[in-house]
Amino acid sequence: KERNGHESEFLQAVEEVAETVIPYIVENDIYYGKNILLRMVEPERVIMFRVCWVDDAGEIQVNRGYRIQMNSAIGPYKGGLRFHPTVNLSILKFLAFEQVFKNSLTTLPMGGGKGGSDFDPKGKSDNEIMRFCHAFMGELFRHIGHNTDVPAGDIGVGAREIGFLFGMYKKISNGFTGVLTGKGMSWGGSLIRPEATGYGTVYFAQKMLETKGQDFEGKSVVISGSGNVAQYAAEKVLQLGGKVLTLSDSSGYIYDADGINAEKLAHVMELKNVKRARINAYLDTYPNAKFVKGKTPWEIGCDIAMPCATQNELHENDAEALLKNGCICVAEGANMPSTKEAVAAFHKAKILFAPGKASNAGGVATSGLEMTQNSLRFKWTRDEVDSKLKDIMGDIHKSCIEYGTDDDGYVDYVRGANIAGFVKVADAMLAQGVV
Ligand code: NDP
Repeated sequence: KERNGHESEFLQAVEEVAETVIPYIVENDIYYGKNILLRMVEPERVIMFRVCWVDDAGEIQVNRGYRIQMNSAIGPYKGGLRFHPTVNLSILKFLAFEQVFKNSLTTLPMGGGKGGSDFDPKGKSDNEIMRFCHAFMGELFRHIGHNTDVPAGDIGVGAREIGFLFGMYKKISNGFTGVLTGKGMSWGGSLIRPEATGYGTVYFAQKMLETKGQDFEGKSVVISGSGNVAQYAAEKVLQLGGKVLTLSDSSGYIYDADGINAEKLAHVMELKNVKRARINAYLDTYPNAKFVKGKTPWEIGCDIAMPCATQNELHENDAEALLKNGCICVAEGANMPSTKEAVAAFHKAKILFAPGKASNAGGVATSGLEMTQNSLRFKWTRDEVDSKLKDIMGDIHKSCIEYGTDDDGYVDYVRGANIAGFVKVADAMLAQGVV
C-alpha cells in the first residue's frame, strides 16, 4: 500500500488475491516466510515510452506507451495490449497481475504481462490507426519476442491493430515469428482465437450451471459490452439455447425483450466491427428495442449475467438488483468488472459467481495454442481448437472446485482460482531461487 497507494485498481486486484492466498500461505510451510506474495506484486519490469505519430491533419500527436512484464516464472510474459484513453499504470498493473494467475490456471507455460497506451482509437481513420500502431511498435519491438514476451489484443486492440503491429515488428526484426497472438488466419493466426474469450466464458458458466443440474436452455442472459468478448459470448449463449436480452457500450445499453437472435447479433457485429458505430444504431433496424443512455444493463431481470465490457462496471447496487430479480449465475467475461462489494453480495447470496481470471481465461489459453501452432509451423482445425478450449475451461473449473469448496459445499470460485493460480507460479519461483 505504501508503494502503490495511488494505484487504486492495482490495489483492488492485489487485495482480492491476498485475502484468499495469505491464509493458504500461512497453512502451508513451503510458502511461509518466503515473501512470495510480496515478490509477486512487484513487476519484474515496467517499460514506459513516448509514442509520436502524425494525424490526418498533419498534427504531431504524443501518447504514452507501456508494457508491464509482471512475472516470467512459468513462461514468457503473455498478455494483451489495451488502447483506451483511461489507460494508466494502475490499470495495466492490475491487468498484468491478474494475468499471472489466469495464465497459470490455463496449465499452459505462459508468464504474465500487459501493456497498451492512452491512445483513443475512437473516431480515428484506418490510416491514423496504422500510423499509431507502427509508432508504438517502433519502441515496443525491442522489449518483446516469441520466447520473451508475446502481446495480444484487449480493449481497442483487435484484428486490425494486431495486423499493423505485426507488420512493423516483422519489418524491424526481419523475422516472421509468433511474437503476437490474435493474428489473421492467413499469417499465423489460430482458428477460434477471435471467439475464444466469449466462448470460453460461456463454457465455464455451463460447467458452473451443471453443478446445479442446470444449463443455458431457455435462460435469459444479460450481457454488457458489444466488443470482441461480448459478441462471442452472445453467439455461444444463442447456440446453447439461451436468450440474450442486452448488449452495451460506453454510451449505454440496448434492451431487446424479444431477444437478440443470431440475425440481430450479426447486425451488431457489422455495426461494431465494420461501421464502428455506437450501440444505439441497433434501434435504426430494430425499433422495438430500447436504448438506455449512460447506464449499465444490470437492472434488467435475468437468470445469468455476463459482464463483458470493462473493470468496475458492476457495483454493489447492481449486484443487489440482479439478485432481487432472481439471477442465479454471474460469469465475468471482462477483467475485474465486479467491484469487491458486488462480489461480496454474490457470495453472501451463495449464487454461482466466476471471477474473470477463471472464466475469461479461454482467450489467453487459445493464444497459448496459437503460440504452439506457430512453433510447430502447424495448424489445428476449428474443431480441434474448440475441443482443446472446452477441455481447458473444464480443467480450470475443476481446479476452482478443488481449492474453493467451502465446508458447506458452496464453491468460492474466487478463492479457488486465486489459490490454484498461485500454487503453480509460487512453486516455480521457489524452485528458481531468489532472482
Ligand atoms: P473491445 O474493445 O472489443 O470491446 C470493449 C467493449 O467494452 C466495448 O463495447 C466498449 O464500448 C466497452 N467499454 C470499454 N471501456 C468501457 C468503459 N470505460 N465503460 C463502458 N464500456 C466500456 O474489448 P474486448 O471485448 O476485447 O474486452 C472486453 C473486456 O474483456 C476487457 O475487460 C478485457 O480486458 C477483457 N478480456 C478480453 C480478452 C480478449 O481476448 N479480447 C481476454 C480476456 C479478457 P466502447 O466501444 O463504447 O468503448
